Amino acid sequence: MAFNLTGFSVSSNSDQEKHVKVLVLGSGPAGLTAALYAARAELDPVVLTGMELGGQAALTHTIENYPGFPDGVGGAELGELFQKQAERFGATVEFDTANSVDLSQRPYKIITENSNYLADSLIIATGARPNHLDVPGEVELTGKGVSYCATCDGWFFKEKKVVVVGGGDSALEEALFLTRFASSVTIIHRRDSLRAGKVLQNRALTNPKINFVWDTVVTEVVGTEKVTSLALKNTKSGELSSMQTDGLFIFIGHTPNTQMFRGQLEMDELGYINANHFMETSLPGIFVAGEVADSHFRQVITSAGMGASAAIQATHFLEKEAIEA
Ligand code: NAP
Repeated sequence: MAFNLTGFSVSSNSDQEKHVKVLVLGSGPAGLTAALYAARAELDPVVLTGMELGGQAALTHTIENYPGFPDGVGGAELGELFQKQAERFGATVEFDTANSVDLSQRPYKIITENSNYLADSLIIATGARPNHLDVPGEVELTGKGVSYCATCDGWFFKEKKVVVVGGGDSALEEALFLTRFASSVTIIHRRDSLRAGKVLQNRALTNPKINFVWDTVVTEVVGTEKVTSLALKNTKSGELSSMQTDGLFIFIGHTPNTQMFRGQLEMDELGYINANHFMETSLPGIFVAGEVADSHFRQVITSAGMGASAAIQATHFLEKEAIEA
């Protein structure tokens, strides 16, 4: 049994293969926009949501740079709107996760938690996941003070001291969000200049609750039941120090969710799927959209745009094939 996002149960049978024209993997802005376009082309797309309903955007408290929402919009709310719009035109959204794929022949075979699918075309929009520091204590204390999502966990740090690691847009955006709860937010960055854009830089640098520790890395997360302190190292002088904190939020970039396509689709050395301007991958009828193929822009608007492009190309691909058959 699977559940669609409106809460109604929908039947699924793992013994039976479901043949679909377009299968979309992922329910972030890329996947749901692809579903909208494929649905409007009457291709009856099925979206497999994956574990993260709405993708990473749904974990963002407020999205201020998606056009059409001059006052900003909640990440989860925007995801629901994307979904509603895709469903209105006939997309089916399944709360299900692809576990493996066989791309050796068409239709492509996708094995999920609840079903088996045969897909004439595939739009991969599986997104990316946050990178880890890979230091002692990080894994053990995840959920006990170590977090990768301020929107999810910020509330637990009311009037507490927290540290944010990273110098990019994510780190600053999330640090600013954490100032709603925490008594102080310390941003630890490995260099002495920020990678983030100027608007966020100015906001963070002038926020009275935020202070910066430059040229420094975390070498260990310390605590037993919960995080109590961090071991630090200055990247220039090599000096070691310790900092007390109640929480550690890590925003140091992402890794694409492409493990199951390894060896079947061409990728770059970081695991991002290679695609051309038309979102076409190395295999016919397989398209990509969003962060699974984009380490550079990583915006809701660019991911949604890629989703539209991928679905338009999938439509052309299936039409051409039907004409030639
Ligand atoms: P990012 O731009 O790649 O920044 C990652 C940050 O983490 C960098 O400052 C990097 O340091 C640091 N870092 C990487 N590995 C580290 C390690 N092992 N230890 C300590 N620090 C480490 O990632 P992001 O902030 O997630 O942003 C990714 C993309 O999404 C960007 O293109 C960004 O513009 C976009 N984005 C935009 C918005 C927005 O427009 N509101 C919001 C979020 C993200 P260095 O600087 O030294 O490399």
